[in-house]
Amino acid sequence: MPLPPLYGHEGLRNRLEGAITSGRLPQSLLLAGPPGVGKQRLGLWLTQTLLCSARRNGPCGACEHCRRVADLAHPDLHWFVPLEPPKRPLDDAKKIEWAEGALAELMAARRQTPRYERPAGMASHSMASVRLMLRRVQMRPALAKAKVILIGDAERLIVQEASPEAANALLKALEEPPPDTYFVLTAADPDHLLPTIRSRVVTIRVPRVPDSVVTAFVQQEVRPQLSATDVVRRVAMAQGSNAAERYERALAQAPWSARGEFTDLLDAMLLELRSRVRSRPSRDTLRAVEVVLEKRALAQGNVNPQLLLARALDELAEVA
Ligand SMILES: [Zn+2]
Repeated sequence: MPLPPLYGHEGLRNRLEGAITSGRLPQSLLLAGPPGVGKQRLGLWLTQTLLCSARRNGPCGACEHCRRVADLAHPDLHWFVPLEPPKRPLDDAKKIEWAEGALAELMAARRQTPRYERPAGMASHSMASVRLMLRRVQMRPALAKAKVILIGDAERLIVQEASPEAANALLKALEEPPPDTYFVLTAADPDHLLPTIRSRVVTIRVPRVPDSVVTAFVQQEVRPQLSATDVVRRVAMAQGSNAAERYERALAQAPWSARGEFTDLLDAMLLELRSRVRSRPSRDTLRAVEVVLEKRALAQGNVNPQLLLARALDELAEVA
């Protein structure tokens, strides 16, 4: 099942396409923007555009490269997503193979269901993933003229752990990527990225998408189809991203499986509140930030996320 189309971001796409055409696209990029606006999907679009053999105003969508990227089956697309730690301890030598296997499994799952869940709270890009990344960086492109290392949720890159050589090798690769190699990182809040990484990438802001685009997304991609009233409700809740869908899913899910999504929801609320504090500071908004931070800390522990959410909403309603 190929990826659903990318919705919105036309202005940004034009800029990126223009930069590729004029040979000015930085080789190490960070796509930064609120959760749910489609940063990784945009990264996949960029991959298609870079690898496409008939590029004209973006990827042609029809050549072998475009089709393989859309099927997540292009050997020059190296998509890294945070992984949950292995169930049992492994020696260092085995960890890279484990990471490779775990990523391959996730990609196989995404081929079945392109609209995937957010990574769980404990998932990260561990040193094993970084070592695997370094291996892939050394490889020549297999099919296209270039290769792309796409790193989703780059806030979860753990490079300070144990092995400094691998961490330094990654920093060096980001600073001076080998020819025909692009790093595309995504992050909701660039402030959460390690400063050593952030200083080595060019940050591109991915804005929220307008309601009309979210409406088109909900109408065409959400199945089963929603009534007109439900579409309006979801779009209102989404505030320029598909966060509303995650919110509803978090509420509908069995309590213990919702933790990752629940902390994501809190993170999204926190981002929104923080920007409000910046533009119009008030005691109430600060108090709301406190409430969310407190719930986020609790959510890491052994507490039912649904209960926390209900309480957080009550408390926020009081201060709103
Ligand atoms: Zn193409």
